[in-house]
Amino acid sequence: MSAPLFEKVAFIGLGLIGSSLARVMIAENLATQIVASTRSKQTLEDAKALGLIQEGYSDPIEAVKGADLVVLALPVRATQKVLEAIQPYLSENVILTDVGSTKGNVVDAAKAVYGEHLPAGFVPGHPIAGAEHTGVHAGKVDLFANHKVILTPLPSSADWAVEKLIQLWQAAKAEVICMDVEKHDEVLAHTSHLPHLMAFNLVEQLANREDNLDIFRYAAGGFRDFSRIAASDPQMWHDIFFANKKAILNAVDGFEKQLKTLRQLIEDENSQALMGVLGHAQAARQHFNHMLANKPLMEKNKVTTQQFTILPGQKNFQGKFTVPGDKSVSHRSIMFGAIAEGTTHVTGFLEGEDALATLQAFRDMGVSIEGPKNGEVTIHGVGMHGLKAPASALYMGNSGTSMRLLAGMLSAQKFDSVMTGDASLSKRPMERIAKPLRAMGAHIQTTGERGTPPVSITGNQPLKGIQYDLPMASAQVKSGILLAGLWAEGETAVTEPEPTRDHSERMLRAFGYEVKTEGNRISLQGGGKLMATDIQVPSDISSAAFFMVGAAITEGSDVTLEAVGINPTRTGVIEILKQMGADLTVENERIAGGEPIADIRIRGTRTLKGIHMPEDQVPLAIDEFPALFIAAACAEGQTILTGAAELRVKESDRIQVMADGLKIMGIDCTPTDDGIIIEGKGKAGEWGAIFTGGEIESHHDHRIAMSFSMAGLRTSGEIKIVGTETVATSFPTFTALANQAGLTIQVSE
Ligand code: NAP
Repeated sequence: MSAPLFEKVAFIGLGLIGSSLARVMIAENLATQIVASTRSKQTLEDAKALGLIQEGYSDPIEAVKGADLVVLALPVRATQKVLEAIQPYLSENVILTDVGSTKGNVVDAAKAVYGEHLPAGFVPGHPIAGAEHTGVHAGKVDLFANHKVILTPLPSSADWAVEKLIQLWQAAKAEVICMDVEKHDEVLAHTSHLPHLMAFNLVEQLANREDNLDIFRYAAGGFRDFSRIAASDPQMWHDIFFANKKAILNAVDGFEKQLKTLRQLIEDENSQALMGVLGHAQAARQHFNHMLANKPLMEKNKVTTQQFTILPGQKNFQGKFTVPGDKSVSHRSIMFGAIAEGTTHVTGFLEGEDALATLQAFRDMGVSIEGPKNGEVTIHGVGMHGLKAPASALYMGNSGTSMRLLAGMLSAQKFDSVMTGDASLSKRPMERIAKPLRAMGAHIQTTGERGTPPVSITGNQPLKGIQYDLPMASAQVKSGILLAGLWAEGETAVTEPEPTRDHSERMLRAFGYEVKTEGNRISLQGGGKLMATDIQVPSDISSAAFFMVGAAITEGSDVTLEAVGINPTRTGVIEILKQMGADLTVENERIAGGEPIADIRIRGTRTLKGIHMPEDQVPLAIDEFPALFIAAACAEGQTILTGAAELRVKESDRIQVMADGLKIMGIDCTPTDDGIIIEGKGKAGEWGAIFTGGEIESHHDHRIAMSFSMAGLRTSGEIKIVGTETVATSFPTFTALANQAGLTIQVSE
């Protein structure tokens, strides 16, 4: 066993927080000896009886003698007095820390005792964890697990002291964050102290009413949730409110101002603005929830929140389904609605996290947006010059579309902006959009050698139209440039090597903006305006593709996907499946919101055959290849894909990740620089198992997860797919619809 982290630890104060940390030290063998000093003898006796300390002292001086770690775990107002007493008796290399909820006044107390030369071992800290009950009996060994601990190292703090404290708190399974003292007090004033003040205030307001008994008796769950923290220790909060007075008063002022705004909106019955505020708050809450929930997961990439399990022996695959709205069209409906004049109504909006990130970004830029509710969104456009500076960085989650298209729009705004994303988006290249935008006059910065997010844009830069030859087919880059062109002087034109998705062009036209398409050259004139319109978002062919492949590889299947968008720049999957011999028909073609749609019917009547995938179809099926690789594995003969280098820089390196998964499941395949060769295991007229089963790592890529799910229709062994939580980004109803069709996917958290 390795030596404990500390020789002798002295706690001054041993209540909820101190005793919880003592419990961790014992459980993790972090200290040879633990002692404490408290006010009452009773606490010391109890602590001994609980086995938390070897010795207890009424006098803190006795406790700290010879200690290499001293933890002040008492009310912050007592800090200065205790420090004055113990200062002459502290060892030279002692680490001195505290757990107080405010930090500025703890540092002030230390300065009052030590003067400006604070000891190198002094590192204030604050565990963001607690409970309503206090005292030595309330402590818990897991109080800090999965909570944050903020350390506020000072310029005088030594690295060795900070590092040892980080080790200590990590042993408590806490996530350690370092920030400066002022920032700590400001952040906590808003996120902890103000909410406690509000809870005390509301309960007090209601308690003073004559009918208070009735009010509390009939109080609903919302009141209970909101007022829970008003049951905390009044003495402690009294101390905190005084200790962090300046920052708390600022937070209260902000609260009063916001409350006044809400009050006025209600008085004026200003429905649109009230919906705007409430909708913004609700979306922000959901958005932050997601951000906070996924961040540690993505950053550490170790923990998996969700996995799919598919058992062998699945037979059925049938039914009529409406898959969710097209992601590309959903994104653009918000972007264009936001900068249009008038109100835009959207139906069929994809309520997945990517499109919601776009929606949130525009709310952050001051656009009032109602919904989404059952796929309906109402956007109150602010016109070409109405976007406002966001208060902080725009968080794009996992959405490359949002980031690349917005890069174009933001380059043309009057304000500075920064875009960030989750761990996966943070690895994706952004230079390919930054470069042409710079050529237009934009000031745009990406990060690191590989030019990844965060992306920082300096506002107020006049843009000039350019003629840009896309080096690699990409609808996102094309759209980003064209969007910047809306504000640029003169003509902006993009020539693409092969046609890519033209949703931007179609929708700009639907919003009344003239866009010219001459062969592979798309152009527009800057300086015009967009007029609000209604948008029906077609069902997403990329989502439909999984069901198309599932039906194509399953004997006797019969699946119809309704009202699917069949924009000619997206129908590669239909063409490729047909060339592979799938029994696929496109029925009931019609136009909705400028986009062509149709019902697609696929039956499992014949074995697919391997093909060299036509290169002209590659850009038109770029997102559908993971699913098509599953089809290729079930086909008879070899399938070759070339000209698809783009696949390597999607949410994951889709060529490598698919090849790895296919090999695990017994498929012979060879990844190449720009494609893959897959040896299909199918035999004409035979419908038995193709895949062996196995555990697949999806690399948090939704399309990888859904593609391998379909392999479950032809597997001899169990398939486990790890890291499937991102499926909700594009296809929230995926497992529900798959189960309805007859493919049983078990979801475990
Ligand atoms: P607690 O359970 O009430 O324990 C306080 C401890 O400090 C007790 O052992 C008490 O001694 C001792 N103490 C009180 N006044 C003292 C004084 N004037 N001189 C010497 N010792 C004194 O409180 P806690 O919840 O652990 O809080 C301790 C610190 O942690 C506070 O600074 C608080 O801001 C911070 N904190 C609390 C929470 C929370 O949710 N509770 C969360 C994060 C941080 P006796 O046992 O003899 O009374």
